[in-house]
Amino acid sequence: MTNHVVQFSGGLGSFGAALAVAKKHGTQNMTLLIADTGIEDPDLWRFADDTSRLLGVPLTKVADGRTPWDVFRDKRFLGNDRITPCTTWLKQKPCRKWMKEHAPVGDSTVYIGIEKSTLDRRRIPAIARNWKPWRVQFPLCGKWLPELTKESSKAQLMDLARWYGIEPPRLYALGFEHNNCGGTCVRAGQKQWKRTLDVLPERFAEAERQEAGLRELLGDVTILRQRRQGVAYPLPLSELRRQHLAAVKPPTQES
Ligand code: SF4
Repeated sequence: MTNHVVQFSGGLGSFGAALAVAKKHGTQNMTLLIADTGIEDPDLWRFADDTSRLLGVPLTKVADGRTPWDVFRDKRFLGNDRITPCTTWLKQKPCRKWMKEHAPVGDSTVYIGIEKSTLDRRRIPAIARNWKPWRVQFPLCGKWLPELTKESSKAQLMDLARWYGIEPPRLYALGFEHNNCGGTCVRAGQKQWKRTLDVLPERFAEAERQEAGLRELLGDVTILRQRRQGVAYPLPLSELRRQHLAAVKPPTQES
């Protein structure tokens, strides 16, 4: 009897992976394993609960108990687009701990919702390496869900979720690529952070406050960098806010 463990992030990719596994193997031995980082958008949990109800599989939640900001403080390192101790401590380690306790290597397969796009597929070898010694499969990159015909399957996954009566997570409609860490993922670039400032200003303000606290503790560290004449400089969120607000022209009386 194989345990089918879907790494369910609360995003559309992992929704598709869960659906594909349910269609191929049924849901009897399925686990929806989800790590709580403490700063997810509340709507992620609504989507996760809806998916759980649809499949009849309860969510298996693991949590370190800290937020990414707590981890950065504890590890004295502010995460960025290259190095993310938050993922290691809040997602990988708690999930692997659960796997060690509940999913024997020889009888368990891990499923990851990596999408078909070339950019996403590049991540497959590193993900498979990280999950060793468990067997890992990527259902969306195969033909498990023939409904997904396009390389970029986000829109199709949204349609699929709606077809099953589930509204996709609201962060996508707000213009975010991923439904993770409430729109304040340290891996995101300037474009997404500007989006956070525009549509979730309180969350941006909290991230700005957290970054400022870490800068007091650690020195001139930042989540983002800015390039000038090919040279990279730290770009604090407070400065990104200033630049972005200065660039947004106030409406004139004529417009
Ligand atoms: S989604 Fe981003 S901020 Fe959240 S744990 Fe992962 S890398 Fe860190």
